[in-house]
Amino acid sequence: CMSTLNIALQNVALQRGRMIPGLEMQTKSFTSLSKLRNAATKNACLKKEYKEAMSVPIEILKERFSRLKWKGESVVVHDAAQEDMMVDLYNIFLLIDDEVKPEHVSNLRMLKSEKIDAFLAKHAQSRHYSYQIKKCTEADCAYCTLNPPRLSQEMLKDLNFIPDPVLKEDGVFKSFEETYGTPTTDKDRPSLQEKVTTTERDKQLKNLLVATKVRDFVVCCECGKRRVVYSSRKLSAAEERALIRLQEELLYICGSPLFPGGEFQDKIVVREGINCQAPIETTYYAGKTQLFDGICFHCGDIEPTTSPEIESLKRKHGIVRPICKTCLQMGHPVVTRNCLKKQKTK
Ligand SMILES: [Zn+2]
Ligand SMILES: [Zn+2]
Ligand SMILES: [Zn+2]
Repeated sequence: CMSTLNIALQNVALQRGRMIPGLEMQTKSFTSLSKLRNAATKNACLKKEYKEAMSVPIEILKERFSRLKWKGESVVVHDAAQEDMMVDLYNIFLLIDDEVKPEHVSNLRMLKSEKIDAFLAKHAQSRHYSYQIKKCTEADCAYCTLNPPRLSQEMLKDLNFIPDPVLKEDGVFKSFEETYGTPTTDKDRPSLQEKVTTTERDKQLKNLLVATKVRDFVVCCECGKRRVVYSSRKLSAAEERALIRLQEELLYICGSPLFPGGEFQDKIVVREGINCQAPIETTYYAGKTQLFDGICFHCGDIEPTTSPEIESLKRKHGIVRPICKTCLQMGHPVVTRNCLKKQKTK
């Protein structure tokens, strides 16, 4: 269905509407969306004008998406949540955990609640490409008691989450009937199976994809890993802005070109023969042109851990790649290179 949605984005150029002239002047110096957003939180007039200006491209996209059909049915476009809906959501959170603060609703990353985690673990199933939620019939569940399921008990009992694709030993996927109602995981999803090979383009650019040409990194919107950005020369201010904008538009995914087309296409590049399962590139750690934070070699977590074993490995090897607590607990190896030879004693 992603490829269906992409059709709506073909052959369309988008531009926001104009704000009142004074505001256009004021915002000219804002090179990124986050700067603009910050300014709008302090300036009510800018917020209102910007919202109106943005409604132009939003309406165009809405109209284009709603003309699509998938399997004979029209694509339904929903509006983004308005403030009153956020208040409703907050009231629902309070039913589950009365210690949740209003500001948590707009920034769910700050929401750390064991009660809500437990609620979601019981009612929802989160997967890479899907999110499913189902009410329960338990008497001690405050939410489902106040908002009881509308289906009959009978039907609800037989209603299961849509299963994940599960591979059989012969490499063929099990049928829906075989998996429906059984516990499944999404480890067999096709995007996890792809093999990583160096692309023709990577071969052509091999002189650029080296430690001495590292200029920055870009974060993959799917897996969150940092991928190294290479360029023959240090990035200019304009190039850096282009990269920031690209990051804000959530366009980069592991394995895709950084700038598909345009003036930067062959100037500012990433390695393309990778996918989201690939570890962090070793050039990330090289530190020849840029010194980046140590992040987990396997998953990119920004808080690597240490242990007596890791410290001892560090004494014996020239290079010990950082690893996070979770990857260590999952049994991923601590990757090392350049074993130091024992010093000769006279
Ligand atoms: Zn419930
Ligand atoms: Zn990725
Ligand atoms: Zn990790």
